[in-house]
Amino acid sequence: MIFSSLAEKLQDTFDKLRGKGKLTEKDVKAALKEVKMALLEADVNYKVVKDFISKIEERAVGKEVMESLTPGQHVIKIVNEEMQELMGGSKEDIAISSEPPTIIMMVGLQGSGKTTSAGKLARKLSKDGKNPLLVAADVYRPAAIRQLQVLGERLELPVFSMGEDSNPVDIAKGSINYAASHNCDTIILDTAGRLHIDQEMMEELENIKGTVEPDEILLVVDAMTGQDAVNVAKNFDQRLDIDGIVLTKMDGDARGGAALSIKAITGKPIKFAGTGEKLADLETFHPDRMSSRILGMGDVLSLIEKAEKSIDQEKAKALEEKLRKNEFTLEDFMEQMEQVRNMGPMDEILGMIPGMGGAKQLKNMQVDDKQLDYIEAIISSMTPEERRDPEVINGSRRKRIAQGSGTSIQEVNRLLKQFRQIKKMMKQLNSGKMKKGGGLNLP
Ligand code: GDP
Repeated sequence: MIFSSLAEKLQDTFDKLRGKGKLTEKDVKAALKEVKMALLEADVNYKVVKDFISKIEERAVGKEVMESLTPGQHVIKIVNEEMQELMGGSKEDIAISSEPPTIIMMVGLQGSGKTTSAGKLARKLSKDGKNPLLVAADVYRPAAIRQLQVLGERLELPVFSMGEDSNPVDIAKGSINYAASHNCDTIILDTAGRLHIDQEMMEELENIKGTVEPDEILLVVDAMTGQDAVNVAKNFDQRLDIDGIVLTKMDGDARGGAALSIKAITGKPIKFAGTGEKLADLETFHPDRMSSRILGMGDVLSLIEKAEKSIDQEKAKALEEKLRKNEFTLEDFMEQMEQVRNMGPMDEILGMIPGMGGAKQLKNMQVDDKQLDYIEAIISSMTPEERRDPEVINGSRRKRIAQGSGTSIQEVNRLLKQFRQIKKMMKQLNSGKMKKGGGLNLP
C-alpha cells in the first residue's frame, strides 16, 4: 500500500502521544525524534527532514499546545498541516491554453512510466470532455510508438506518428496541424527517454520545447527510486523549467521519500500520482488527502470520488429497491461485490476510511482479496435457481458447489449463513424492528 511502512511508524508514534493527558516539552521532542527517524528511513531528503522537524517543533512546544485539552491531537494537527505544505499545500491543475490546442509535453527517463502516464492522462482528459491527441515522439525506443498506438486503440483516441525515421521536433510540429484538422484540443507529446540523463536527450527536449512552446511540461518520475527521482527532477527542471511532476508507481512505494521531498527540493508540484498499471490508475495529487492518508486519518473525499466513478447509479438504485422488498438474491450480492472491487484493492479502499486507515489496523485485519475470490467462485458454481433461492441448497448440492468452486463445504456454509444474516437484517430494518447492536459479520 502507498506509504504503508512510513504510515505505520508515524501512527505508532502518534498513538503514544494521544494516550497522554499532559505533554511535556520532552514528550514532544521525543516524538519528533521518532518522526525524524521514520522520515529518514523513508528516504526523505535529509535537509527536507531537518527543516520539516524544526518547523513543527517551533509550533508544537509552545504554551498554547502544551496547555490545550488535547495536546497530542494538537501536535498531530500541526504535523498534518506541515506535511501538506511539504507536498505543495493544495492541488495544482495543469495549464489549459485559452486557445486550442493545449500542448502537454511528457518527459522522463526510460522505464519511469512516461508512455503509460501519457495514456492515463489522455483518458482522464477525455473523461473531462477534452479531445486529446497522443503523439509518438519517442523514435528511439523501438516499441514506444507501437505501445502508444495500442494505448490509443484501447482508449479509442487518435495517435499521431510519423514512424521511427522522423525527427522528434518535426513530429511535434506536425502534430499541431494534425490536431487542428482532426478537432483535437489537447496534444500529449510522448518524448524520448534514456536510461540516464544525457546531453543529447536534453538538447532534443529543449528543441521540442523551443519549437512548439508547450503549455505544460510534465516530468514523469518513478516513486520507487526515492532520492534518485528527486535528483532526476532537479536535473530536468534546471534544463527545461518543468511545470509539474507525475509520480508513478506509488502503489509499490511503501516509503514515500520522493513524494515528500520532491516539491521542497525542486519547487515544482506533483500534479498526478500513478497508482497502478491500469489506465484508470492515475489520481490527481492532493497534498492534503495524501497527508491524511499517511497519518491514518483516512481520505473520505477520494473514497467518495472512487465510489462515484465505479458504482453504477442505476444498479445501485435497483439494488436498494430489491433490498427494500426483500428480493435480494445471491446474484445481487455478487454484483454488489464486483462493484466494490471495481473501486480497487480492498486494503487501499479500507485505508481511506478514517479510523480504519491505520496501517497497523489494516495489517492485523489481513484484508484479503482472496476471500472475495472465494465468494465469487462459490456463487458462480451455483445454478441460477440456487442463487435466487439458497434454501434449496441441500447437503449434496453444497458438496457439488464446494467442489466446483475449489473451496470447502465449510466455506459454502459460511457464505450461506452470511447471506441469511443479511436478509434477516434487511427484514428487521424494513419492519423497523432493528435492534440495537444487531450487526452482521460480513466477510
Ligand atoms: P516509459 O519507458 O517511461 O515510457 O515507461 P512505460 O510507460 O513503458 O512503463 C514502464 C513500466 O512501468 C510498465 O510496465 C508500466 O506498466 C509500469 N507502470 C507505469 N506506471 C505505473 C504505476 O503507476 N504503477 C505501476 N505499478 N506500474 C506502472
